[in-house]
Amino acid sequence: MRQHEVTSSNGARIDESAVDQFSAALRGRILRGGDDDYDSARAIWNGMIDRRPSLIAQCVGAADVAHAVRFARERGMVVSVRGGGHGVAGDAVCDGGMMIDLSQMRGVWVDPKEKTARAQAGALWGDFDAETAQHGLHTTGGVVTHTGIAGLTLGGGIGWLMRKHGLTIDNVLSFNLITADGEAVRASVEENTDLFWGLRGGGGNFGVVTSFEYRLHEVAPQVLAGVIVQPADDATDVLRHYRDFIADSPGELMTIVNLRMAPAAPFLPEEIHGVPAVMIAVCYSGAIEEGERVLEPLRRFGQPLADVVRPGPYSAHQALFDASVPHGLRYYWKAEYLDELSNEAIDALASHAWTAPSDKSYTIMFQMGGAVRATADDESAFLGRQAHHALNINSVWTDPTDDERQFQWARDFWADVQPHSAGSVYVNFLGDEGEDRVRAAYGAKYEKLVALKTKYDPTNFFCMNQNIKPVAEQNQSRQRTS
Ligand code: FAD
Repeated sequence: MRQHEVTSSNGARIDESAVDQFSAALRGRILRGGDDDYDSARAIWNGMIDRRPSLIAQCVGAADVAHAVRFARERGMVVSVRGGGHGVAGDAVCDGGMMIDLSQMRGVWVDPKEKTARAQAGALWGDFDAETAQHGLHTTGGVVTHTGIAGLTLGGGIGWLMRKHGLTIDNVLSFNLITADGEAVRASVEENTDLFWGLRGGGGNFGVVTSFEYRLHEVAPQVLAGVIVQPADDATDVLRHYRDFIADSPGELMTIVNLRMAPAAPFLPEEIHGVPAVMIAVCYSGAIEEGERVLEPLRRFGQPLADVVRPGPYSAHQALFDASVPHGLRYYWKAEYLDELSNEAIDALASHAWTAPSDKSYTIMFQMGGAVRATADDESAFLGRQAHHALNINSVWTDPTDDERQFQWARDFWADVQPHSAGSVYVNFLGDEGEDRVRAAYGAKYEKLVALKTKYDPTNFFCMNQNIKPVAEQNQSRQRTS
């Protein structure tokens, strides 16, 4: 006798025989409370999220996803979709309802001749890079290998190769997805072009993507990459120099500034572990000698505590930050796109970054521009191509009783950078921050996304995401507030 009954979202019990039939129709498996793997399946990267789906459908293919969507829909179950499980808001997991878990769908197939790859939506960037690296090929992906390709791609995708090859979405050739009515649909430049526009930035609002097809690029066997560590005491000068240095940097160069206590990472000398630092991570994906020349002024500046910039494989550099953002800690983010760094913006960054109540917290700032800016703004739902930096203030801690203090540090910091905002925020860096912030992430594109949502998901079946409400729900909220 099972301990946990399956219920719809209004609490109605779902007949056991229906659950058994559903289970029999899946090639994957279902999990429910009390099953051995239930707790590990519902755990995601952000340790703050502790939700209990009534049912977890561990799908192994698109047909399973279609079954799961139909089953949940017919029984009024809320649905969440788990790709790699890194969304900080925790929308991958629902309380009650059904979690469609794609973690078993990690296949990646490379066509080296066409320079393309098709990947199932549960793949992580580590899976993807491992397969494409075999052929000396890569595409823009996230900078932590245990992040899922799915959520990251659907929100835009920023990473080491973007200034040369564009955002991840700029390299998507097609999406295969299951829509809210359980239909298998393909979106590309030739088919369902409106959906193709919306899926490139619009997140999980339009269906469950089961696989992505990407364009790949040749990347030399070695890139020039690593970290230059400067003392936080020199932050103002270092960041002003950094601003001037990147102003006309080539597309081959991508940098990420990380303001934090230097982590106890094996690639850093032990004597600087725990020291307040400006860490400038770099990746030059062109000829090594040219990279040495380009990076020289950055490496020569000031009195670096360490310089661990070396030639090495791109895939190895992709794993650089992995250990410093482990699964299961408590994470809270506040993010914003920033304009070019003014002196005042630098002062705001420097006055908050090292005051975090936890030495695990960090503030990360991705350099934008290059090929990201070269693509027309209206090409996709993604907003932010004109921004100079994507800032992400990350509170990281372990003790639940400390939550409020950790939230407050990030909120105060974020409030003080508002005057330097480029006017929007990267949707993939949003927490659970409400409708206004989702609107901020899409700006003038929001209404077009509402129309698309209304066409493909008029009842807001896919609501566990950075949610764009269809017209009917927009009207309801308007009536409630009038
Ligand atoms: P999930 O939590 O599984 O998914 C997030 C949401 O995406 C889900 O709630 C759902 O709404 C939607 N979704 C997921 N899969 C599907 C699907 N198959 N079909 C439809 N909707 C789906 N972003 C960058 O751009 N660049 C980075 O370098 C980067 N680094 C990161 C590093 C870390 C450690 C973390 C935690 C995040 C990072 N991010 C980065 C942000 C990242 O893009 C988002 O967290 C993204 O949501 C992660 O996708 P996921 O599949 O792992 O997450």
